[in-house]
Amino acid sequence: MEKKIVIVGAVAAGPKAACRLKRLQPDWDITLVDQDSLISYGGCGIPYYVSGDVSDESELRATSFHVVRDEKFFQEAKGIKVQTRTRAISIDRQRKVVQVERLESGQEEELPYDKLILATGAKPFALPIPGVELDGVFTIANLHKAIEIRKRIAQGKVSNAVVIGGGAIGIEMAEALKDLWGVETSLVELEPQLLPCIVDWPFAAMLKNHLQENGVQVFTGESATEILANAEGKVCGVKTGMRTLEADLVIVAVGVRPRSELAREAGLSVAPWGGIRVNQRLQTSDPDIYAAGDCVASTSVVTGRETYAPLGSLANREGRALADNLAGIPTRFKGVCGSFIMKAFERCIATTGISYEAALAEGYDADYALTSPPDRAHFFPNQSVVILQLVFDRRTRRVLGVQGFGMMNDSLSARIDTAAGLIAAGATIEDFSDVEMAYAPPFSSAIDSINAVAYVAENLCDGRMRQLDLDRFLAWMEDMSSQPDWLALDIRHPLEAEPYVERYGREKWLAVQYEQMRERYQEIPEGKTCIILCNAGTRSYEVQVFLDHLGKSDSMVLGGGLNVVSRLEPDWYIK
Ligand SMILES: Cc1cc2nc3c(=O)[nH]c(=O)nc-3n(C[C@H](O)[C@H](O)[C@H](O)COP(=O)(O)OP(=O)(O)OC[C@H]3O[C@@H](n4cnc5c(N)ncnc54)[C@H](O)[C@@H]3O)c2cc1C
Repeated sequence: MEKKIVIVGAVAAGPKAACRLKRLQPDWDITLVDQDSLISYGGCGIPYYVSGDVSDESELRATSFHVVRDEKFFQEAKGIKVQTRTRAISIDRQRKVVQVERLESGQEEELPYDKLILATGAKPFALPIPGVELDGVFTIANLHKAIEIRKRIAQGKVSNAVVIGGGAIGIEMAEALKDLWGVETSLVELEPQLLPCIVDWPFAAMLKNHLQENGVQVFTGESATEILANAEGKVCGVKTGMRTLEADLVIVAVGVRPRSELAREAGLSVAPWGGIRVNQRLQTSDPDIYAAGDCVASTSVVTGRETYAPLGSLANREGRALADNLAGIPTRFKGVCGSFIMKAFERCIATTGISYEAALAEGYDADYALTSPPDRAHFFPNQSVVILQLVFDRRTRRVLGVQGFGMMNDSLSARIDTAAGLIAAGATIEDFSDVEMAYAPPFSSAIDSINAVAYVAENLCDGRMRQLDLDRFLAWMEDMSSQPDWLALDIRHPLEAEPYVERYGREKWLAVQYEQMRERYQEIPEGKTCIILCNAGTRSYEVQVFLDHLGKSDSMVLGGGLNVVSRLEPDWYIK
């Protein structure tokens, strides 16, 4: 029997649901409604359009066979009706009609439905400071804003830019401005680290260091308090608690919130923070209304709790699962891992599951293994180090999250995607040790980095390895008198270790090369706690086992070794 389907929102989740549904139920009458004139675009491509990597905005709206996805395309190619510049203003659930307003004419109309889909997405969080309404201040709310930003830059109107917000969108926009256009760009983040609540601080700190190396000034732990105007009323700067930054363009990217007013006003169940509540079939509290994408509250497959994951990948998968359910194919969307990846200049940062900090906050008996293996066979040309961390629960040995920082290539994404699949299935450390990865030297190592980080986690969990947290090590390096009994045991090549011995003296920094440990271990003084240091942490573990065997069981390994420290570049680090 033919059904009338109305879908509100036509960017990612809406069109995905519409197209899948039309394929499954060709006779159904499907109408997509959107208040915007530009629809079905790859919002994730916006930073690459602004940078110029993507030459024209229409590429973000085109299919892989180069046809622009506009109203005509949906009608002719897909048999789906599209009404743009049409805003849904209310839902009458009793009568099953959506009240819409035609934005060009102001006319109101009713659209009857058998099933309604809400794919209303998210809206940028409004920063409550003076000056946000000034000419030259933008949020990345839609493609129009991106077009306007790029136009201004291309016209040579932008020399200095300030990005407020150190989340993924802010960082990607900062790179876009600096990298290809050479705009002097500063980024201000209120929290003490970039990507707050997404990655742990060492990963955020590595990213910050890399942005700064590439000329983006990054100010973390600093709040933007006012956006300043010049005499013509145009933006000219941003004031923070600590400085004033010049700007002829300001991008405000301080997070997004679910756009759920329509749902809330219709009496649907909505989380206090705004996410529309849906069951695993993407059905809201009204069985005739479904929802998907950035407007919904998701469930974390790690914690089982409600979470917010506004991601294009999820919007598309949810849209498809929703359509299946409507068409009579029972499909469960079980929840989200929160898999995330982004490029920043020549680096890549990625995560899946939850961070160590989040795991502690959730009450897990959390610990982590931190490693820095090569991203392909160590003898292969152009191999590079990838920093990989696995977060686990000591009590159940379940893996809770994996995060990484490496070169801008496919190495990290392959590991994160593997981890996401395992974590969603509730995998333990041993499952990660066992997972079979494809190997050839140009792609990976014979002992894959995802297996290797799990081996370290096993050793930690079983007490075969004792590690020193990175933050405790860095604190000691700032003030060695805080732990007078600690001694750095540097087992690297003398060329790497000796400059430190010269600086700190043998009482604080002892250099005994790994290969000579078995003949020189007696040089290690009694009564000292050795922090064993090498580049990756692997040799350090071996030396720890050797010292334990000799009854010297008071040593600690710096997980991930100096490879991690070198990416943070603290003041004391000798390049
Ligand atoms: C700069 C940027 C970079 C991103 N990068 C990535 C990335 O790399 N990876 C990733 O996974 N995700 C990324 N995202 C997120 C991704 O774009 C979103 O998750 C995705 O667009 C969500 O799709 P959606 O259909 O749920 O909602 P939206 O894209 O927000 O679309 C919702 C649509 O509904 C319309 N609408 C809302 N209310 C009404 C109403 N009452 N009546 C009519 N129309 C209405 C809106 O105008 C909008 O057009 C990025 C986002 C941005 C902005």
